[in-house]
Amino acid sequence: MTSSAADGAVPNPEREFVTGHLDDLHADLDAWLRIPSISADPAHAPDVAGSAEWLAEALRRTGFPTVEVWPTAGAPAVFAEWPSADADAPVALVYGHHDVQPVDPLELWEHPPFEPTRVEGPDGPELHARGAIDDKGNVAMHLLGMRAHLAATGRDTPAVTVKLIVEGEEESGSPNFPDLLREHSDRLRCDVVVVSDTGMAAPDVPSAVTAMRGLADAEITLRGPAVDLHSGSFGGAVPNPLHAMAELLAGLHDAEGRVTLPGFYDTVRPLTDRERELMGRVPFDEQAWLAGPAASRVASGEAGYSTLERIGARPTAEVNGMWGGYTGPGHKTIIPAEAHAKVTFRLVADQVPADLGEQVRAWVAANTPPGIEADVHVPAGGVAPCASDLDSPAMDALLRSIAQAFDTRPDQVLFTREGGSGPEADLAGILAAPLVFLGAGLPTDRIHSPNERVLLPMLHRGAEAAAHLWRELAGVDFPR
Ligand SMILES: [Zn+2]
Repeated sequence: MTSSAADGAVPNPEREFVTGHLDDLHADLDAWLRIPSISADPAHAPDVAGSAEWLAEALRRTGFPTVEVWPTAGAPAVFAEWPSADADAPVALVYGHHDVQPVDPLELWEHPPFEPTRVEGPDGPELHARGAIDDKGNVAMHLLGMRAHLAATGRDTPAVTVKLIVEGEEESGSPNFPDLLREHSDRLRCDVVVVSDTGMAAPDVPSAVTAMRGLADAEITLRGPAVDLHSGSFGGAVPNPLHAMAELLAGLHDAEGRVTLPGFYDTVRPLTDRERELMGRVPFDEQAWLAGPAASRVASGEAGYSTLERIGARPTAEVNGMWGGYTGPGHKTIIPAEAHAKVTFRLVADQVPADLGEQVRAWVAANTPPGIEADVHVPAGGVAPCASDLDSPAMDALLRSIAQAFDTRPDQVLFTREGGSGPEADLAGILAAPLVFLGAGLPTDRIHSPNERVLLPMLHRGAEAAAHLWRELAGVDFPR
């Protein structure tokens, strides 16, 4: 972390307010994190509903004049709006989610996942709990951020009209979110979407996410003999679907680590030299990454790209599971009738998830030996990738906000790309608004894993940046 306001000549009333009211932020987050809003588990549906109600109440308490809980076919979302007194002011929409990932394996948690616990870590105090940063921490910082904005600017209403949409099914793939966006597109209308569900490169490295990958998946079934056969009587004389599957999947990448589906790279937006230069400035210790979060012995992937580029800026294919035949104790000498595999693809702009079905089918058909019947199941939907404009006025406003919160210059705020996937492309597409990303997470926060945490100094900086953002966005002349 860099220095505090005390040694700077620039007054920073937003920071003063945030620093003076951290107890409120901590109390709010603590209460919210105690609600086990696991959207994947139907047994927790009442908790997800309770989490929405808790947030609605907190937003009302913050002063939002309009707060509504919107039901969906699944879990409820929370909508809030605080209009600026200036009728021509820009409209910003914050996106986040109030559901959390499941917590198993429970025995790996050092503290119960829904009893927020403060831990002193090497980079400062941490709060451990499921959802501490993904995404309750990232949303909670807007509660204090809004109060700091009003107090610091002496306003009764924010400098821009601020809306929030906080969904309850992000960790389950946001199945009802596009419909919700379409149904309420009038009320959600905005000039810019502020996504608060990501993070920064490192504690002392202020940065902004500029892209998220998309996702498509496929399940492949190969069928050989009509029944499992005796391998002594038939082995070596008829095709074995597990052999065919192994060969098929072994050919998913070429020797350069490129995905071999026909047309896979046709619509991939190439990285510009400037983007590569900017990504290259993000400090990244590959050995520490391998020893830590990656828990792997070597880095590997597409030739010609750095590890950060492979994760954030290039599309990938991964075999997630393969099964078939006999896997029990001892041996069972068969030629299995079937082989199965699940494969997922991370996509980048401007790939289209719906194109993957045809590409996978064509690839499987071209690589299945005679006598093996292939069945490819590609679920409809998938997640579209998204990317922000690095040079937009909204991005400039975001960089100024982050720079103020981290005591640095806007041109020192780095750009990163998020390897994961969410509904951001739907927000941009359905609402026809550009995206900027403001999040306080870190790659070391163990999101989706046991012992998820938020680094509290990052959360505090995030709340301050959120406070600066409404003032900075007010000066942006958005095309209407
Ligand atoms: Zn999230």
